[in-house]
Formats: sequence, C-alpha cells, structure tokens
Amino acid sequence: MTKQPEELLLLAESGRLLASVFALLDRTPLEGRSTLEINDMVERFIVDDLQARPASKGQYGYGFVLNSSINEVVCHGIPSQSDVLKNGDIINLDITLEKNGYIADSSKTYLVGEVHPAARRLVEITQEALWQGIRAVRPGATLGDIGWAIERHAKRNGYSVVRDFCGHGIGREMHEKPEVLHYGKPGTGLTLREGMVFTIEPMLNRGRRSVRTEDDGWTVVTRDGSLSAQFEHTVAVTASGVSVLTLRPDEMQRSALP
Ligand code: MN
Repeated sequence: MTKQPEELLLLAESGRLLASVFALLDRTPLEGRSTLEINDMVERFIVDDLQARPASKGQYGYGFVLNSSINEVVCHGIPSQSDVLKNGDIINLDITLEKNGYIADSSKTYLVGEVHPAARRLVEITQEALWQGIRAVRPGATLGDIGWAIERHAKRNGYSVVRDFCGHGIGREMHEKPEVLHYGKPGTGLTLREGMVFTIEPMLNRGRRSVRTEDDGWTVVTRDGSLSAQFEHTVAVTASGVSVLTLRPDEMQRSALP
C-alpha cells in the first residue's frame, strides 16, 4: 500500500500533468459547450500535448476520458453532445491520467457563467471540505480523522456528505486499497504511514445524502434532486504531513495555509 520514493516521483509527475489539464479548463469558457466537446478537448490535450494516457478510457468499459456531472448529478455523468452547458450550471469534471505507468485522479466543480449564490456556496464549502480532509493527513493520523474533518465541515454548513462513494488508494491501478470514507470518527480506521498515496474526493449535497443511479447504469443523481458538488485530489503522506500531487495553480495559496 505504501509507495517507494521512485514511485512517488512518478506519481508526482502524473499529478503535475493532470493539474495542467485543469489549468487548460480554467482558461476555457465552458458556457455553450457540450460535455462531449470538453471531453474531446481534454483527450487531445492529454494524448497529443502531454504524451500521456487518459486512464478512464477503457476502464470498466467506459468510452470517455472524463466524467461530467452537472447540477444534481453527483458523479459519473457521461459526456454527451446534447448536454450543453448553460449560464448558472455547476459542473464537476473528474479526470484521470496515466504517465509512465502511474495514475493520478482529480476533479473540480466549475461555475458556468453567473451562478446563484446558493450554488456557489455549495461549491465553495465542498472545496473547503476537501481541504479540511487534506489537512488531517499526516503520519500517525487515521482515515477516520480525514472523514470526520470533511463531514464536520459539511454539517456545520448545512450540507450532507454522500456515503455511496469513497476515495481510494491509487498507483499503477486507478483503484487500490484503502477505501477513504468522507465521514467517520477521529482516531478510527487505518493509521496513515509515509508513502501512502490515495484520493480524497468528497461529494456534498444541498439536500439529503441519498443518491440513485439512472437507467444508463452510470449516472448518479441526488434522490431529492438537490444540487451536488465534488472536489478531488490525489495526495501522498509525507514524513511531515501531506503532499497534494494534483495541486492546481489556482490553489497554491490555499495549500500554503496552516
Ligand atoms: Mn477517484
């Protein structure tokens, strides 16, 4: 479950490349674009510019390089020509990338045009919840510490945490041990050790936490139709704390916070 130093270097390189994909998306106006156009743009960038492999394509029979989850879609939304982003939408783009055999996984929820303050707040609190979880990572802490930090921040702000999906170990495989729950009790669960690499990827709902899968067998939506947001990073446990391998340029300041 723990990685060797040379593996950590390769994972950091995959993470850095994946962050550059999000930097490209940050520069791309999303309104009026279909989620399939975004998928295709990201695929070209990963394959042609980064000389890397979109790890989601072909995994579990999936045909796309990203998940595009709009508004009440919690996760696993499928890119489509008919899903055109409109002013006021929120959309999570969840992307994986493999370089030299090692995979990084990250997601960000984007605001499309002018977004209602209530939706914007959900997105902000979800990003904060991820960072609360990240700040709980250090050798000797437990997985329960991470889940507790995330759930506490969500509840304080009146949101629920989806329990049907979790973060995961990652390396040569996209999904390795352990499972990283986004709720829990401090001091419980696996103890973190230097060299562990895993994702943290909380999904927060404005309404209740229950979800259902649509008839396509992929798309997961909130049962009550409420908005849902998600952020995800791949992190490594270091000797002194945590390294966020997929840290994006727009977050440099956040990571410097104590
Ligand atoms: Mn993931």
